[in-house]
Amino acid sequence: MNRQDAEKLLNKKRYSITNDLAELQKVEEFIKDYRHFIDNGKTERMATVYAEGEAIAKGFKPFTPGETLRAGDKICYVNYNKSILLAVIGKRPLDEGCRIIASHIDSPRLDLKPQPLYENSGIAYFKTHYYGGIKKYQWTAVPLELHGVVYRADGTRIDINIGADQSDPVFYISDLMPHIGKDQMSKSASEFIPGEGLNIINGSLPIDDDGGVKLKVLSILNEKYGITERDLVTAELTAVPAIMSREVGFDRSLIAAYGHDDRICAYPALRALIDGDVPEHTSVVMLADKEEIGSYGVTGLGSESYPDFIRSLCDATGADYLACKRASICLSADVGGAYDPCYADAYEASNSVYLNCGVAVSKYTGSRGKGGCSDASAETLAKLARIFDEAGVVWQVGEYGKVDQGGAGTVASEIAHYGIEVIDCGVPLLSMHSVTELASKFDIYEMLKASVAFFKS
Ligand code: MN
Ligand code: MN
Repeated sequence: MNRQDAEKLLNKKRYSITNDLAELQKVEEFIKDYRHFIDNGKTERMATVYAEGEAIAKGFKPFTPGETLRAGDKICYVNYNKSILLAVIGKRPLDEGCRIIASHIDSPRLDLKPQPLYENSGIAYFKTHYYGGIKKYQWTAVPLELHGVVYRADGTRIDINIGADQSDPVFYISDLMPHIGKDQMSKSASEFIPGEGLNIINGSLPIDDDGGVKLKVLSILNEKYGITERDLVTAELTAVPAIMSREVGFDRSLIAAYGHDDRICAYPALRALIDGDVPEHTSVVMLADKEEIGSYGVTGLGSESYPDFIRSLCDATGADYLACKRASICLSADVGGAYDPCYADAYEASNSVYLNCGVAVSKYTGSRGKGGCSDASAETLAKLARIFDEAGVVWQVGEYGKVDQGGAGTVASEIAHYGIEVIDCGVPLLSMHSVTELASKFDIYEMLKASVAFFKS
């Protein structure tokens, strides 16, 4: 058999890489924008504000359920400050369904406990409670930023953002020096930094000769923000790595950053929507919170807030909600676990996704016997494959790792619960859920192309 015939029969690995200079420039420009987003949107609140700002700048209007909408209208709806839903009303009626991309904008991190501030042996600390699946030992000895909101007793709101600016102080969790680490080093990786060991240093000066490091910190907070220890009880403060995105490698092909998961899919979806023309089918982007802890809560995709938004769009255009849901299709756009040759034992190489090989499509996620996942049907997967192939989007399929090795979940289960056809698709990552995760520039750009193609379908 000649080579051409053989290639027709085989499903060979393809690369998202390009050498076309004009295309390369587009990739670099998009990556620059993406890095600005990820460096300034490290929490769901910040990402929501950022996305809203971008949308408003492109002519999107805040949507109030009850108003009337028509083809070409561009609207956004902020859901309790931590998630945002956006839509461009298409030329066809919503009874013919919409094209939805759902991603999440929360990432694993350390939240402050409700009563966070204490002192011990001359050092002031915050107690924390980790959020999402982290390897706890990674969070020691790295600079941390602090973000969130504090409400004074009179109800006024203070936004706290400390540590991102080079002139800001940062925060820090100490680790034990290896010299006397014998006992610590003999413990398993999941135990040697316990949850209660993630205490953040936030000060070390006493208020007077009698001590009072905690009091000194409170006096600074009161002077700067007019808040007291009582106000910390109702606050929502979170610590994230004070590390900005960086290019990685001599060839600068990769981007290391905190919180790629899942802003790396959220941003391409957002840009595909706000930069796009008026689509045939109504395009919807859902940037959700709480995915990392199971999509619970009023801002998580398990909340009725999300289907309510679709229902509101139907009401606003005079369409039938049930018909709309049945005709809709959703990309659950979330990251894939790229094959890591340094940890080859955890993967099954022939069913893994690879860096620089385009967007990762997952028929199913889940763990063990596919537990907890939305296993997309062949009809859905084949439909998506056709959309991507026709648009020249480079895509690959794979699982997270070896069977019985663990697993993952996405918002696909929640979308499926609403009765909307859904499939997982996203950018492959190395070091997922680490303080900095790694992704390929070309794959990020391919996710933009995938989002554009999906909205045009
Ligand atoms: Mn994710
Ligand atoms: Mn995750």
